[in-house]
Order: sequence, then C-alpha cells, then structure tokens
Amino acid sequence: MRTDPAKARLVKGATGDWEVIVGLEVHAQVTSRAKLFSGASTAFGGEPNSHVSLIDAAMPGMLPVINRECVAQAVRTGLGLKARINHRSVFDRKNYFYPDLPQGYQISQYKSPIVGEGEIQVDLTPEHSIKVGIERLHLEQDAGKSLHDQSPTMSLVDLNRSGVALMEIVSKPDMRSADEAKAYVGKLRTILRYIGSCDGDMEKGNLRADVNVSVRRPGTPLGTRCEIKNVNSIRFIGQAIETEARRQIATLEDGGTIEQETRLFDPTRGETRSMRSKEEAHDYRYFPDPDLLPLELDPEYVDALAAFLPELPDAKKTRFMAEYGLSPYDASVLVAERETADFFESAVNHDGMKRDAKAVANWLMGDLAAHANAQGIPVAEAGLSPASLATLVDLIAEGVISGKIAKDLLVMLVGDDRGAEPRALVEARGLRQVTDARVIDRAVDAVIAANPDKAEQAKSKPGMLGWFVGQVMKSTGGKANPQAVSEALKRGLGI
Ligand code: MN
Repeated sequence: MRTDPAKARLVKGATGDWEVIVGLEVHAQVTSRAKLFSGASTAFGGEPNSHVSLIDAAMPGMLPVINRECVAQAVRTGLGLKARINHRSVFDRKNYFYPDLPQGYQISQYKSPIVGEGEIQVDLTPEHSIKVGIERLHLEQDAGKSLHDQSPTMSLVDLNRSGVALMEIVSKPDMRSADEAKAYVGKLRTILRYIGSCDGDMEKGNLRADVNVSVRRPGTPLGTRCEIKNVNSIRFIGQAIETEARRQIATLEDGGTIEQETRLFDPTRGETRSMRSKEEAHDYRYFPDPDLLPLELDPEYVDALAAFLPELPDAKKTRFMAEYGLSPYDASVLVAERETADFFESAVNHDGMKRDAKAVANWLMGDLAAHANAQGIPVAEAGLSPASLATLVDLIAEGVISGKIAKDLLVMLVGDDRGAEPRALVEARGLRQVTDARVIDRAVDAVIAANPDKAEQAKSKPGMLGWFVGQVMKSTGGKANPQAVSEALKRGLGI
C-alpha cells in the first residue's frame, strides 16, 4: 500500500494532525542596466550614493520615465510562468514613510499588474512534481538602504538601490510544507535564470522571499497567516516555515489565537519574532501615479517577445529524456542550470557525431561536477571544454585509455594541463592503454613468479583473482586493459 502523500506531509501536534499552508511573495531584481524610472546604473557594490539620479533621490519636479527593457523582462518572465499578460497595466503609489524611501511612496502596481495568473511545475523528486499557482507578477521600485553602523550618532542612507526594478512574484497558497516551498523557489530561480530576467543571486539580495505561513486542521478553512519578511536563502526559507508552523501549532494547542502580523526570522536563534502588526492595503493609501500613463502593450509586441523565449527547463528535461534516453534524474540535474545543459549537449554532439549521452552525463555529473563543486564554481567554468570532455569519452570508447586512466586525465585537464588537447596529452604522457597480449603476458608472468604461495592458493580460491589483477595493474601503471589482464591471469594461474 502506498502512503497518501497529502497525509504524509501533515504535522503531528500534541492534539492531532495539522496542515501547513504556505504562499510566497518573491522579490526578484530585474536584470537591466538602468533603473525602472531613471537612467542611473544598477551596478552592485558601487560607492554609496554613486548611482543616484535626481529621480532616485526624489528631487521636487522630477518625472519618472519607464525603462522599456524592464517591461520586456517582466513580460518574458510572465510568459515563462505560463501566465496571462495584461495588455493594460497601471502604476500606483504605495505610500509609507521610511528613511530609505525618499519619495515617501514606492511606485508599484496594485489593482492592475502587468502579469496575471500563471503556473509553475515544481519538481519534488525527478519523478514527482506538483503545480503551484501564480497569482500575479508586478513591477515596482526597490528602496534604498539605511546604514546604522557608520556613525555613532547618526543613521546614514545609501540610495544606490533606490529605484532599481523589482518583479514581485506572488504565488497562490498552494504549498503544504517547507520542502515544497524550497523546491518552488529553486524552480522559480531556475526559470528566471533561463530567461535572463533575474540573476537569482540570493547572497546579493537579488532574490528574496516574504513567506506567508498558516496552519489548520485538515479539511477546515484557512487559518490566520503570518508573513515572515525578507528571507534571503532557500535553506532559511525552509527553516522559517518549520519554525513558524511549530510556533502557530503550539499557540493554538495552548488555546491561544494567531494574530495576523509581520515577523522576522532569526536564523541564529532559530525563531521568528513579531515585527509589527500587519498592514492592510488601505494603510498604504494606494492611488494611480499621476506622473505615469497606464502601460499599454500591443499583442504583436508580446508575440515577438514570446518568439524569442529560450527553451525552458521543463521542456528541456522532456527533450533530454526523449532525445538522449536519459533518466528523469539525470535530465533534472543537467537542466537545473542552462549552462550545464548547453555544455552537455555540445559535448554529446561535438564534431557532428552523436556519442554515448549517458557516458557524457556521468562524467559531467560525476568527476567534473565534483571538481567544480570543490572549488565552488559552475561546471561549465571548471576548465574542461565540451570538446575535451567529448574526446575523453571517445578515448575510452575506442579503448585507447581505461576508465581509471580517464579519471587521471580529467584531473590533468582541469589542473596543470588546462587547455591541452586530450589525445595529444595521452601520447605525451604515455597513457595509452596496453592491449598488446605479449606485454600483458609478461607482466602477468612476473607477478605470478613473484608470488608462488598465493598462486598456489588461488587454484582453490578463485576469489583471489582480484588481488592478482590489482598487482598487474599496479606494475603496469594502471595502463593495462583490465579485461585482458583478467583473461591472461586465469590462463596463467590455471583457474
Ligand atoms: Mn513588494
């Protein structure tokens, strides 16, 4: 009997089972050179207040002008999320007072966002996926940054980030566990990176999530939710959900109630803390920005962007399985980063010949990935070109080198012999596999002659063959063909 997946993810409380409900609001920084309504640079890490136009500083009389590229990025993203593109959207002022918000309001989209409902396929395992609904995607400005540790008596402000374009991507409350939420953010990040509309760099804060969590008894209406603000790593998103769900369950089981509020996750203490009671939309006094016309998009414009959308991860995974006969697992790993998928395909098809795709995948996901991970760099930047990986696989297939030598060869190619041509390197280092029967027989005879006792024992204990193979491989520097060695040993030992 199979476990009902809906039951398996329930949380056990002291008084029975609880269901955890999660919805996410992800803020993704739009990849563009200039800000949403000004020409100032979006470059990360500049001197404080060096990328600030008069608009970003909210000087009186300045007028915002929409950045075309940011609009195109939002539309591309909407298409990638299989979402409805709204041909007419409106920018609103969201009013609140904060020292890092010089305008006194954020230009955002409220009732008419640029992108409406969509859907993401979230892979929980390579074989099992769920659908998570997208509620909307809207464009808005980022705020500046208050610095409280620069002066003993004052807080300073850096407006470099002020006015940078963000896409706020709001999911439906379709997730039921921390794992589902983590997989959702991972998949969303992959899609954004494929499209090139956000680099997904969570360490720089370019992708961050507000996490909405509530709990309920299975089958009952939704409970009151709390929003955990600005969680900036996938691991912390998972921890924040688990911590907050436990807090809510404990509160309810003690007879308490959950107040709708905004909370902060403190990863070092492993707790969420109340920040402020939740604002309602009317607290922001939204109204259409009188300085900006409604944004109208021609259907032809949207169609043109759709035509140039790259192949997205789900489609690529399906194609990799069909075209190269890969398992769902291998295909999932390879498509997680677009560069890795491209690397794989150019290695398989290098020189116009189709080589063993599974062998290429194994080397890519095994030895090469291990080397790249150890250095914390992407596989595609590990120092081995797709052409070199293809040649390495060919050399094994042709019997020129053994799998064991190939591992050494790979280490040379990503290390001291970076950039070398694999075939030339095999010759230069004398790595060619020995298949010459006379050479192998000579090595086998020498090992048997040096170990007469063991050779005698082997006649009654054929399991000792492995030890002899090891000795011959050692004496030939790993270059003898293991198959041929094994055959020669059986003859020599008479087993
Ligand atoms: Mn927002």
